[in-house]
Amino acid sequence: MSDIRLELALYGKGGIGKSTISANLSAALAESGVRVLQIGCDPKHDSTRLLMHGQTLPTVLEYLKDVPKEQAEVFAVLGRGYKDVGCIEAGGPKPGVGCAGRGIISAFEFLERNGVKEHYDMVLYDVLGDVVCGGFAVPIRREYADAIFLVTSGEFMALYAANNILRGIRNFDGDRHRRVAGILYNRRNVAGEDQRVERFARAVGLPVCAVIPRSDAFARAEEKKCTVVELGETGPEREAFFRLAEQIRTGLTLYPALPLEDDELEAVVLHGMTPARIAEETSSANPSPAEATSAPVAATPLPDAPDPARAPLYGCAFTGAITTAVHLTDAVVIAHSPRACAFYTWQNISSPGRRNLFNRGILMPSAVSPNFESTDIGQTEAVFGGMDALRAQIAAALERRPGAVIVVSSCVSGIIGDDVLSAEDMSTPETPVIVIPADGDINGDYMTGIEMCMHALAEKLIDPTVPGRPNTVNLIGETGVANNTTLNYRTIRALLERMGIGVNCRFLGDARAEEIRNLTAAPLNILAVDSPDNMKLKGWLEHNYGCRFFDESLPVGFRATAAFLERIGDFFGCREKAEPVIAAEKRRFDAEAARLRPMLQGKKVLMTTINANMDWLLDAAEAVGMEFVWIGVLNYLRQELRVTDRPERRGAVEEIAAAPTVMERIEALKPDIVLSNYTSAVQEKDYITDNMPMGQLVGFHAGLDTMDRWARLLENRREGEWMRDEAFFKKYFA
Ligand code: SF4
Repeated sequence: MSDIRLELALYGKGGIGKSTISANLSAALAESGVRVLQIGCDPKHDSTRLLMHGQTLPTVLEYLKDVPKEQAEVFAVLGRGYKDVGCIEAGGPKPGVGCAGRGIISAFEFLERNGVKEHYDMVLYDVLGDVVCGGFAVPIRREYADAIFLVTSGEFMALYAANNILRGIRNFDGDRHRRVAGILYNRRNVAGEDQRVERFARAVGLPVCAVIPRSDAFARAEEKKCTVVELGETGPEREAFFRLAEQIRTGLTLYPALPLEDDELEAVVLHGMTPARIAEETSSANPSPAEATSAPVAATPLPDAPDPARAPLYGCAFTGAITTAVHLTDAVVIAHSPRACAFYTWQNISSPGRRNLFNRGILMPSAVSPNFESTDIGQTEAVFGGMDALRAQIAAALERRPGAVIVVSSCVSGIIGDDVLSAEDMSTPETPVIVIPADGDINGDYMTGIEMCMHALAEKLIDPTVPGRPNTVNLIGETGVANNTTLNYRTIRALLERMGIGVNCRFLGDARAEEIRNLTAAPLNILAVDSPDNMKLKGWLEHNYGCRFFDESLPVGFRATAAFLERIGDFFGCREKAEPVIAAEKRRFDAEAARLRPMLQGKKVLMTTINANMDWLLDAAEAVGMEFVWIGVLNYLRQELRVTDRPERRGAVEEIAAAPTVMERIEALKPDIVLSNYTSAVQEKDYITDNMPMGQLVGFHAGLDTMDRWARLLENRREGEWMRDEAFFKKYFA
């Protein structure tokens, strides 16, 4: 064994003859006593065929597909060729599937781990020169190739590929490192090719290290399944390889990669211009400074302003789509993804559930333990394509006879080009297979994923021919990951039922496929929240399915809920049914306010809020005798302030200009409660802090429920119970 002295990479356009040249060069080096390892990096895996006398080697990637990484042995893929040249083929997927670039990366990682190179003096990488992605550029990386040869003929496309390879090298090296050894010119005997190669070599500042003549000796060697070096016929082609081997053994001069621009390349190769002439002509074509300043100047486009109305939820489209899809309770949701993507998405959905463990019963089941599975894409699927694994998982899911099978694609499946949409052909008459090609974050962010999922489910499930169901409504756009969603649904459903109105379908919140199928049967749709994304969904459903929408979203607080029920009553012709409901709730409201008043009367509240109507809360505070001493508004959109409709309350409202204002106000006004959108990091002794829930409570009692919480917080503070978490723990688990 000896230390590695040199690693060489031969890059060239597909079909240019670089495998033949590599094999002959390895043979010539081996003849002179060098221990050579040749690694074929073309998915065609025919680089070492002549050295192996036609024997086909198992490729590294095929081998790794069947043998677990920890049991894999490099000797299983290492062939012993002519003069003991070590032969390895990296391999790759079939054309059109998987990711050959990722295959090269995986094969190189395996060879590195197994230290195979230590047994050789020289390593020769035979690489496809169409450097289409980072995988094919791996051998160019400095930890591999010490010297790089460009294999080319005199045809324009071969020189074009050689120039691209120089670009790839320059990306790694800049113009400081010198690793290009020169050009290996494989003659095709086409007119003018010597001159073209010569001009290109001069223009990029590289020597032509070998000229390999076109010769029938190659065909004769091919017939005998060996190299021309081994064939032994004397001739210029064989000599060329020995001379090149000699150059390599005695020391190569290396050069920086200086690729040409495309137009320069064309001018040099096709039109016979020298770089100096190009520079001259280019400068004369450029306007003089005077001309340049008088020419119209295109305005630099401004970058798109961020959309301030965009919901502040972050994550990829894959996560957004799964977060939504799991609400179809009788579906099997398949994340076509690595295990890690599925795990993070599971965490994303379930963490609010765990955070709100003490408020049991108010979460959607799908938010506590989202039910989806992953195809667990790994190295094999990334290289060879993941469609077989996906189809097998869909077939297994269909046997369970679910309402639907929903497939969501991740970044990896998007990047390797899995044709995920083709899996929809596995749909059966009973079970549709619905594919959401989110492709991780390639097709957008979290909100895009939600939208893609809603659209796909609607398109595949809704049956517009189902007969109507009078006296029903649909609930549209409930927040998928929020702790009040189920409670709000129950509240609204109970109120509507008291008026004889049912809920036909929740699109999409813990619903069955059958319910989505019947969506158009309800004469009225109600948006859960009028967020910008929900407004978009509303427009889409109106346009595509003729859905009719109520012009308000779910009501918050007593006044809004009473008005909501009256107007719903008007729509269904049963307003008289709203009146007893409102009257009964008014009695409950008054009784609850009377209970809370002794605990809260005279307490002061300071609130910071976004610019939204808060009368539901101010009404309840008034009913229990609390005072809002200051309301600071974060008015990001610079709109008219709409915190209250009541003129007498406006005196307490002020726009927040800077963060210190809030602390100054707290200092001056000494509130008992500070209410804000975010949980304070500081637990103050003088006041308690509370924050607005992510999903607002709806219904008559949203305000008084908040007051009830404050009463308990104040009571706990008095007793010091808030400091003893184990008291809460025992309360629920003892
Ligand atoms: S961005 Fe891509 S890699 Fe990250 S979790 Fe989403 S799908 Fe997975």
